Amino acid sequence: MRILVINCGSSSIKYKLYGVEVGDSLAEGIIEGIGTPSARHRHRVEDWETAVEVAVVDYRSGVSRIVEALSEWGPTPPVADSREIVGVGHRVVHGGERFSSSVIINPSVMEAIEALDSLAPLHNPANRAGIEAAGNLLPKAVGVAVFDTAFFSTLPERAYRYAVPAQWWSRHGVRRYGFHGISHRYLVERASEVLGKPRPNLVTFHLGAGASACAVRDGRAVDTSMGMTPLEGLVMGTRSGDLDPAVVFHLMKAGLSASEIRRGLEREGGLLGLSGISSDFRRLTEATRAGNPSAALAVEIFVHRIRRYLGAFLVQAAPCDGVVFSGGIGENSLEVRRMVISDLESMGLVLDPSRNAVTGGRRISTEGSPIPIWVLPTDEESLIARDTVRLVVVGQV
Ligand code: ADP
Repeated sequence: MRILVINCGSSSIKYKLYGVEVGDSLAEGIIEGIGTPSARHRHRVEDWETAVEVAVVDYRSGVSRIVEALSEWGPTPPVADSREIVGVGHRVVHGGERFSSSVIINPSVMEAIEALDSLAPLHNPANRAGIEAAGNLLPKAVGVAVFDTAFFSTLPERAYRYAVPAQWWSRHGVRRYGFHGISHRYLVERASEVLGKPRPNLVTFHLGAGASACAVRDGRAVDTSMGMTPLEGLVMGTRSGDLDPAVVFHLMKAGLSASEIRRGLEREGGLLGLSGISSDFRRLTEATRAGNPSAALAVEIFVHRIRRYLGAFLVQAAPCDGVVFSGGIGENSLEVRRMVISDLESMGLVLDPSRNAVTGGRRISTEGSPIPIWVLPTDEESLIARDTVRLVVVGQV
């Protein structure tokens, strides 16, 4: 029996295949550039890897290629017959107020996901397209939706409500939902293991192209830096994060259109907007080392915002059992971790520079640091696979 995990983005499909014990993935890959004439399909089975340019017009033909690759590509394809795939776990970005845990997909679940399109216009339609494609191509497999918002269903109302007219919430759904929940939930589970504490109080940071902080109390999310959409909070690759809403009125008065402002905040802001160089943190690190002042400033602002949330969330999570860094930047940039945890001994956070310089999942604080600090590589797909196994094979989450 095999479990396929599918993560459909606005123009890509990432996938991983697992056995039902959900150890290391048996195969994985990505199709990028869906809908363009030259999509790229990368596929890996153990040490065997290939990348081909192909035309993939839509998600259905993308999923069809994936099923074919899993059963035909490489010296030892991990699927002999597509009926071996008994469950398909789908990452679904927005579950709104309805979904507080993973569910088996049926027509009413699909309708509910569709009803949330307006809150996640780039993501939910892509997620549904992937679900429909897998349902058609693998009719025997049970589909499971794992929501990025579900982990935040435990936020108290004081954390998820905005101080706006109450009707905006009741009529228009204006509230904080939180995102990156699959990653934060995974990090809480891993931190619980490494700290040897079943329901820890934590501050977790997922720092990748998107970035967010989460405050955790008794193993449950109690606050998040993300908002009604994934635009609020930390500085991200191209997203501004926190901003005075009056900036929008100011710019509209100055003649910018709503779509120009939106593009600036979502696609041309963040590290890219600040540096004018790139949204890619590796490039900014290199440019900073080469003495580029705008790259250095972008990194400083990125770190400053993280420290703001660290301070705020240490209060929400007090007494805090641990601080966790994850995501491409959190796992790999020792400079960011050093800058974030500098001069915080008085707050109980003491970095060990030599541990911070090593790669891989590990504790990076000193032995005596009152609050331990960890780097933990995230693994959203394995969590989606485990939920899928529990619902499809074991029969319960
Ligand atoms: P996503 O949110 O798309 O899953 P990732 O978690 O893979 O993204 O993070 C991507 C970010 O991580 C990019 O900005 C990339 O430059 C950064 N990154 C990856 N490796 C390193 C590294 N060695 N040093 C600094 N930044 C890195």
